[in-house]
Amino acid sequence: MARIVQKFGGTSVADVERIKNVARRVQAEVARGNQVSVVVSAMSGVTNQLVKYCNDIAPLHDPREYDAVVASGEQVTSGLLALALQEIGLPARSFQGWQVAVHTDGAHAKARILGIDAQKLEESLGRGEVAVIAGFQGVSDSGRITTLGRGGSDTSAVALAAALKADRCDIYTDVDGVYTCDPRIVRKARKLDKITYEEMLEMASLGAKVLQTRSVEMAMNHRVRVQVLSSFEDVPGTLVVDEDEIVEKEVVSGIAYSRDEAKITVVRVPDRPGVAASIFGPLTDANINVDMIVQNISEDGQATDLTFTVGKADLERAVKVLSQHKETLGYSHLIPDENVVKISVIGVGMRSHAGVAQRMFKALAENGINIQVISTSEIKISVLVAEQYTELAVRALHTAYGLDKA
Ligand code: ASP
Ligand code: MG
Repeated sequence: MARIVQKFGGTSVADVERIKNVARRVQAEVARGNQVSVVVSAMSGVTNQLVKYCNDIAPLHDPREYDAVVASGEQVTSGLLALALQEIGLPARSFQGWQVAVHTDGAHAKARILGIDAQKLEESLGRGEVAVIAGFQGVSDSGRITTLGRGGSDTSAVALAAALKADRCDIYTDVDGVYTCDPRIVRKARKLDKITYEEMLEMASLGAKVLQTRSVEMAMNHRVRVQVLSSFEDVPGTLVVDEDEIVEKEVVSGIAYSRDEAKITVVRVPDRPGVAASIFGPLTDANINVDMIVQNISEDGQATDLTFTVGKADLERAVKVLSQHKETLGYSHLIPDENVVKISVIGVGMRSHAGVAQRMFKALAENGINIQVISTSEIKISVLVAEQYTELAVRALHTAYGLDKA
């Protein structure tokens, strides 16, 4: 007997028919002789609606009451699924976050899980029940309902799988796995059988919206085997696993892009020690995250240009902050540019292969695409290019690294 945590996202529980379909999926897992706990999201669209109610009543709302409101979407689906399971003859009961309990810190609307008491769930499973848990929610030390941030029920599921020492955490969604690239852009994208935690983490934080980034971090830290699969089709999904489990390591496993970047060039900053610190200090103070950075060496030993990227949503604020410090920083002017995209190639195989970056630069050059900024990490190379080249660049790289499906 294996212990499985299944998680169903909003589209999988979007209406009564789909909830009944989920119940049959749970039944199939139980019929295989497994012990099953299920984590559910709110029905699709419901959380957005609840968020809107809060904003309409009070734009600057009390986050504790916001959490009381938005957590209710998952309460509904947990009860409905428990009913649907009972209807097909499976003993089942629902658990809210506070009933489990899922303990979180008090950072309302973006709370972090501190620990999970698995005792009540263990008892329920011991009685042969299916435990249906409302995802996305927990309870703080002061006894208030908290939520984990949008997309947080992935994290609920992985955390519960860790607490229950589950053999696997199956995340059912509306795509059937993790692809080498966004299939909407690259028709030749292939579904991956397996991907490492580290690669998945890069993909998730670069905008491949299959899993909440924090859930991947949690899976990696607790070595939870995660499978991403479709709740609408009966096909194997993608397993997110430890590197040791992957025998044939691809040099590059996937290509991701993010349109969420904006670029700022600070023109003619004085070339002396401490300048970078005095530029990035005020940005840090304003809570603005800087991602890629390039600085040129000055030709005259006097002044140089410094270019970096921030999230698109932060561009205006970043420009304002730097303008306020123009006198002290002593630069000539700023050039903001929103018309950029960050394209990244990701793969753990990069650690042991040479020439990976060169292949990227060559493919882009052959397509006449100019690289504006480059950054690298151990398993990732990212470049910033003009946004209009997104599709062309992504497809060219997909082919260059041999990822196209036959
Ligand atoms: N219902 C929440 C949301 O829409 C949590 C989730 O679906 O993961 O963000
Ligand atoms: Mg989701």
